[in-house]
Amino acid sequence: MTEENCIFCKITQGEIPSAKVYEDDDVYAFLDLSQVTKGHTLIIPKTHAKDIYETSEETASALFARVPKVANAIKKTYEPLGINILSNTGEAAGQSVFHLHIHLIPRYGEGDGFK
Ligand code: 5GP
Ligand code: ZN
Repeated sequence: MTEENCIFCKITQGEIPSAKVYEDDDVYAFLDLSQVTKGHTLIIPKTHAKDIYETSEETASALFARVPKVANAIKKTYEPLGINILSNTGEAAGQSVFHLHIHLIPRYGEGDGFK
């Protein structure tokens, strides 16, 4: 289920190009356009959900279950010292795209660009 005018639905459909990190039947992971640090990746469910409040357990389970796999792919490719994993919910929390997503932000030590 996709939603019209949702940029992340367009990304899962291949209508907007993206740099794929991982994909299966349920989720799609790709590099964030604005790389906070090298390898900054977003994981999204292929089923549209606006945010964590409006997500079914089924969609959330599939999404969160893939975090270890995507984190390991990032670890292997970028060899960061650590990774911050977070999800912004609501404008006040910094959400700017209203299709649920998890940020994986690789960390490389002080001064790597993420605060
Ligand atoms: P939020 O601010 O909602 O937590 O995160 C949305 C993220 O999506 C931002 O970090 C932004 O850079 C990224 N983003 C917005 N539009 C696009 C796009 O068209 N392609 C990609 N790869 N990332 C996008
Ligand atoms: Zn969507």
